[in-house]
Amino acid sequence: MSESDSQTILTPQHHEDCVLRKSIQFKNLVKTERGEVVSVRPCASEKGKIMAEIELPTRKDELFLDSQLLCRLLRAYKRRFTKMKCSSKLGVGRVMWKARRTYIYKHGKFDVRFALSQDDALKTMDSIGRLILGSIFCKKCGQPAIECALGQCEECVSNNLQSVTLDELSTPLFIKGFEALTEALEISRVTLIETSEIRPISPSQVSKFKSKIQEGVEFFLDSSLKTPEWTNVSASVSSVSLAFSIEDFHEKAVELTEALAKRPGGREEDIQSIRQFEKLALETFKILLEAFHNDDPDRLKLVKQKNSELSELLEELDSNLSGNILGRIREMYEDASSVWSGLLKSYSS
Ligand SMILES: [Zn+2]
Ligand SMILES: [Zn+2]
Repeated sequence: MSESDSQTILTPQHHEDCVLRKSIQFKNLVKTERGEVVSVRPCASEKGKIMAEIELPTRKDELFLDSQLLCRLLRAYKRRFTKMKCSSKLGVGRVMWKARRTYIYKHGKFDVRFALSQDDALKTMDSIGRLILGSIFCKKCGQPAIECALGQCEECVSNNLQSVTLDELSTPLFIKGFEALTEALEISRVTLIETSEIRPISPSQVSKFKSKIQEGVEFFLDSSLKTPEWTNVSASVSSVSLAFSIEDFHEKAVELTEALAKRPGGREEDIQSIRQFEKLALETFKILLEAFHNDDPDRLKLVKQKNSELSELLEELDSNLSGNILGRIREMYEDASSVWSGLLKSYSS
């Protein structure tokens, strides 16, 4: 199909109280009392521009967003910003973007500087809100939205998967995003599995992989900014969630390889089993990606099958390996399988 055609993709359906169901509506804050523009002042340094302070109605002791995820999302999008700084320790991010500077605070306060008007400040907020949506805590389950996206939180995904028609602007961006993730998986497969000996993965291979993941996330977030449809925004968070899960898996696999390289003399058949485990997990991620991208829920049957193979393999590994190595592999399996177990639940019911 040509890139200009609109496309349908498969996404989970979220509970009506989930943060992914409703837009944050920064534009209407003033009117709806869901939050407040606390102050609007002229910028001291730039004539004719204003700074607006916006506060969302979170309780003083309540966090609005997860600081680590805020920084992870801003970092993933940093090539699009003029400047970006984020401290997960302080819970504050600062971006210079399209000639406006925005400060984002973990308690739900935002400062927009160099805006042209109050309306312009709220529009900027709306865009920033879409970019960082994955880090915002869901009132339904208490987890950040990115955990709700694919159902890892176990509360926010309903029993149905849905076919979402992407709008025209989102379609090419999603296609490119999925392509980038597919390439990332291929790099991961080649570096992890297609080597005969166990030695640490080279930093250049790691950064090649990371750059592909970043590219994918950029495309999904680009579409989030452009789309008029909230379902597309939510589909973008699901795709970013999948991208981050693949990145986490790869990172742990790289660490595992390092740990194995440090203790030579491991049994050949154990190494083979570990390789097999990684191969199966990467294949499962790929099938999941295809299920979304091709809007093909039946692919999930295969995910289910791969998942059983993975857990069987894990059982076999049990008796042979040292506790440290085994612990790492178990953790990798638990994290990866949590990505698809929520979806499998929706699929089978
Ligand atoms: Zn939720
Ligand atoms: Zn949730």
